[in-house]
This record gives sequence, structure tokens and C-alpha cells, in this order.
Amino acid sequence: MKEHVMKILIVGDTAVGKTSFIHRYVSGKFKETYKMSLGVDFSVKVLRWSEKETVRLHIWDIAGQDRFTSMTRVYYKGALGCVVMFDISDSSSFLKCHQWKLDLDNKATLPSGAPIPCILLANKCDLPERVVTADSIAEFSKNNGFFTWMETSVRDNRNVDEAMRFSPWSIFYRPSW
Ligand code: GDP
Ligand code: MG
Repeated sequence: MKEHVMKILIVGDTAVGKTSFIHRYVSGKFKETYKMSLGVDFSVKVLRWSEKETVRLHIWDIAGQDRFTSMTRVYYKGALGCVVMFDISDSSSFLKCHQWKLDLDNKATLPSGAPIPCILLANKCDLPERVVTADSIAEFSKNNGFFTWMETSVRDNRNVDEAMRFSPWSIFYRPSW
């Protein structure tokens, strides 16, 4: 069995649901609360590519304070895709996405020099108190070079697999049958 390794990042404000998203995607479960850990964690999901090949997705999660630090350059290195996440009930987390995207584009590219492909996820769409409108998300996504955007609910397991399956980097692990 040949194994390809792919590094994917997830960034966004604290408490938007990044760790929950990875946990749901990798293990299929939702935990009500998470312990905040320091530093960077990564989770692994193994996907079947073909009879003879598998892809190991290494999904990197900035734990702790999610602050902008000089650490991010190291964290971004070698990534082939990035999820930028915000909480649809928290407008400041939406505004932060601009900074995350700029920081990523300033510090890292694909080996070809092209920007790292990004998707924008509006999480917690199960909550009634939505403060960010679909129109403003769509406009922001288009103006800032995101491949696409989606509403997700990690709690209700809405669009978690879909977001990862239809991400721009999934061409690397989706066999073209
Ligand atoms: P992180 O700081 O971005 O890693 O956020 P966490 O994954 O630690 O989640 C922060 C809080 O939001 C936790 O209490 C989660 O249970 C909650 N949470 C995560 N996703 C959702 C969601 O889709 N809906 C709701 N209602 N809560 C969520
Ligand atoms: Mg976290």
C-alpha cells in the first residue's frame, strides 16, 4: 500500500468550532465541551484512494488562544489546503477571517507559488441567533479568493463531510471514477 500524506489547516477565531469540526470529521462524534490545550495538534484521517494507495490527511489545529503569532509561518508550512472558520452567531469571528486569509497568503503558498486553496465555513448554523447574512458571506468569499463557502453545523453533523469532500484539495484524494 502506497501512502500519500496531505497537510490541511484549520484556522479561525477561538471557540468557532475548529476542534469540534476535526473531531467530528475524524471520529464522527460531537463532544459538548473541549479542553483547551496549548500549542498545535494534528489529527489523522486515512482515506482510500485506490486499490493500492491511501491518503493520510493530517489536519492541523491551532489549539489554545489562536492568536496571531510568529508561530503561524511554521504552522502553515507544507499545507495543501486550509479551512477558515467562523461562528455565524458572532460577527467579530467573521471579521477575523479576513486577517486569517491575509496572514496565510502572506506567509505560505503551494510549491507552485499559487495561494493555498481555502474554503470558508460558517459554523453553528443550528443556532437561531444568526448575525452574519448569507449575502455578506458570499460577497466576502468571492472578494477574498475562497474556493467556496458553506454553512456547517458540527453539532448537527451538517456539511462536515461535504465540506471536506468537495474542497478544492480533495482532487488529491478523490479518485476520478
Ligand atoms: P475552537 O476553539 O474553534 O476549536 O472551538 P471548539 O471546537 O472548542 O468549540 C467551541 C464551543 O462551540 C464548544 O462548546 C462546542 O461544543 C461548540 N460548538 C462547536 N460547533 C458547534 C455547532 O455547530 N453548533 C453549536 N451550537 N455549538 C458548537
Ligand atoms: Mg480548538
